[in-house]
Amino acid sequence: MLNFEKSKQAFQESSRYLPGGVNSPVRAFKNVGGEPLFIAKGDGAHIFDIDGNRYLDYVLSWGPLILGHADPQVVKDLQAAVARGTSYGAPTILETELAKKIQAIVPSLEMMRMVSSGTEATMSAIRLARGYTHRDKIVKFIGNYHGHSDSLLVDAGSGVATFNDIHEAPGVPEDLAYDTLTVAYNDIEGIKQVFSAHGEEIAGVIVEPIAGNMGVIPGTADFLQTLRTLTSEAGALLIFDEVMSGFRAAFHGAQSLYHITPDLTTLGKVVGGGLPVGVFGGRKEIMKWITPDGPVYHAGTLSGNPLAMTGGLSTLAQLDESLYKQMTARTDELMTGIKGAADAHGVPITVHHVGTMWSYFFNQGPVNNFDDVQKSDVTYFAKFFKALLQHGIYTAPSQFETNFMSSKHTEADIETTIAAFNAAFDDVAR
Ligand code: PLP
Repeated sequence: MLNFEKSKQAFQESSRYLPGGVNSPVRAFKNVGGEPLFIAKGDGAHIFDIDGNRYLDYVLSWGPLILGHADPQVVKDLQAAVARGTSYGAPTILETELAKKIQAIVPSLEMMRMVSSGTEATMSAIRLARGYTHRDKIVKFIGNYHGHSDSLLVDAGSGVATFNDIHEAPGVPEDLAYDTLTVAYNDIEGIKQVFSAHGEEIAGVIVEPIAGNMGVIPGTADFLQTLRTLTSEAGALLIFDEVMSGFRAAFHGAQSLYHITPDLTTLGKVVGGGLPVGVFGGRKEIMKWITPDGPVYHAGTLSGNPLAMTGGLSTLAQLDESLYKQMTARTDELMTGIKGAADAHGVPITVHHVGTMWSYFFNQGPVNNFDDVQKSDVTYFAKFFKALLQHGIYTAPSQFETNFMSSKHTEADIETTIAAFNAAFDDVAR
């Protein structure tokens, strides 16, 4: 058994100062019935806890680290940047360079704004949609997560699904919740009904085109195309929240897989390479509504911060189609291995993966929406998660989250991981 003594002590100490001992709820390991590991360092595909245990890391800071931990070029670029100062509160060329790079990869962002988190990106996109259309209502999908701003916490996935009754969002004024309409994910009839009842009041529809906050659930092509058609007809905006799927589902984002151009897109995670960056952008005519060009207010002391821009630039510079081919092939191989291991042990499982995003549900399937996810055996999941940890594999500590692949995970790492899954299935009797 691995020794977690130092992490245990660190958690007791942190719990005296931070609610739940953490700064973001899913880190607490609460729903897998354990205590979180405190991390000392990361190196490539591995992280090391403060007790000196080493793990193959598939959380990767919840997605950002597509080049793994402490990529040598990213470290070098950041070291050079920090020596020039950490923040100026004035424009730098870095911001334009990152915007140009993003636009070259995801062309629908004709103009964009940099912010410091995915939450800020989606919150600002929603405000822009409301300001631009002069309408108040927004539509979101049950189990999609768009960060923790008031309007978007209703029926949300990720930590909300893990810890709360998904329908409750204490602290969110009822009036705001009233303007957020929710529909089941992939429910074409449901969204048509909402538009026939409220079409003229809807400012925008926000969707994770490939949902990643209830495990990985791809939107169907028909569903996403229906959203495009309905919003265009009703004069509402279509917002693709690609904070997770951007640079993850595919190099050019989920929108390139479906050949759908949203009006606005939000990005985060990989776009900052492990530093705090979010982006919202889209059609120029709409983005021109942002201050100081237009009336919709947006600002940020650290927006476009030079270190954050450098993290993003240094990371994106290393990405190309061939790297995605390699990472996707490794993800495919891992999924085949996990499915094979579960089948050999008679454990019902559904595996989903798109590009470098992957997850497994202890559930016979099919898994197309949040109701389906809830049929998963979360008790088995908790035991299995702990067994995997003992075999040196660090995965997301919740059935409602996604795992990721990095460029640093090798062929040998995939074989080690499949062997660990087999061993964990041996350990956990049903
Ligand atoms: N949107 C999506 C799709 C996300 O997955 C997340 C975070 O997981 C967010 C928004 C919020 O981003 P952040 O945690 O950077 O605020």
